[in-house]
Amino acid sequence: MDFIRTPYYEGRDPNLKEPYCFACRFYENRIVFSDFIRCSRCHMAWYCSTQCQKKHDKRHRERCNLMMAEWYSVEQSIVPLQDSDVLSDDSAVVQRYFEANDNILSAEVGEYLCDLTSLATVFWHSAYECEIKQVWEAALFHCEKVIKVRAGYNLEARVRIPFILLYLNRDDEAYAYIRYWFEEGIHGRSRPYPIEPNCRYFDIFEENSTADMGNLQLPLFVALAIIKMRIIASHNAISRSIDIAFEQADMKQILEVRSDLQDFLLDCDIDVLDQSLRLNRIFEEIEREEPFLLDSMLKAEQFSEIRDFSFLDEALISALPSLKLVLLHSVRCFFRVPRASDLLWNFIIGNDRFEDVNNDEAA
Ligand SMILES: [Zn+2]
Ligand SMILES: [Zn+2]
Repeated sequence: MDFIRTPYYEGRDPNLKEPYCFACRFYENRIVFSDFIRCSRCHMAWYCSTQCQKKHDKRHRERCNLMMAEWYSVEQSIVPLQDSDVLSDDSAVVQRYFEANDNILSAEVGEYLCDLTSLATVFWHSAYECEIKQVWEAALFHCEKVIKVRAGYNLEARVRIPFILLYLNRDDEAYAYIRYWFEEGIHGRSRPYPIEPNCRYFDIFEENSTADMGNLQLPLFVALAIIKMRIIASHNAISRSIDIAFEQADMKQILEVRSDLQDFLLDCDIDVLDQSLRLNRIFEEIEREEPFLLDSMLKAEQFSEIRDFSFLDEALISALPSLKLVLLHSVRCFFRVPRASDLLWNFIIGNDRFEDVNNDEAA
């Protein structure tokens, strides 16, 4: 039987995990889900026993100390803002605060946002390493806090958000977020962005957005490409599974209902060819924004599953200087979509750029 070769892909990152024992994974290379003990300081490390916690303590301590130091900085920098409207949950109140202050970012607010961004970054690194849902959510929470106070404050928090949402398999929200920035442009103000179910199938180019997004544009296009690739890959996987099942079943009556079944399973409102065309358009936009980014991403695939972020950081930056932040955020997510590298290759070859890639390799 051939069922083992049946492709299986649901359009999600299967590596998103519930908390597991950090020590068992690190020392025995197995993942244990159990009643945990959590690190009492950072709450972002889980263990199946006190022995495991002890064993892992030396390794965890550095990350834990860093996290606590960032927490402490945020707690300090929030003090002078305690009674200020800048921390309001209501974005209209925050907006009025800045208008009343001539839209100038005071030193205090700047420091708070800077510390908040650093804290989010530590969570990001942690989540990238352990891939635990709660840690990704913590990173998201702090990035969103930065945006809430001052959306235009820095690119880092804004760029991380769609990728965190993708690592969390919240593709509709990622799409809604991207669309929001396409409408608002780089200086957009924060407001809750409307999320419609299944909006990930929409076409960003039809949504009539002309805002200037500056440096934000490129990472958002990469995130958009991942959303479309997931749709196409899951559609193809289901479709191929149905074919294989029918080839092997060899039952005439069932063959008659084949197309009905296919429609049912594939949700035929989705035009996969149309989604592919949209993906191609997105690749073209990336290419226009930063020529050879896609080639560099192909080269980066080899780094994409490395857990230790500090190495990844250095390796990528030295090997691929032009890629900057965006690649660090997205390569793993990107290449976990089945046939992602084939899709990229096809685009690059189709774009008549094959010669250039070879020259680049030789240089
Ligand atoms: Zn353990
Ligand atoms: Zn800790």
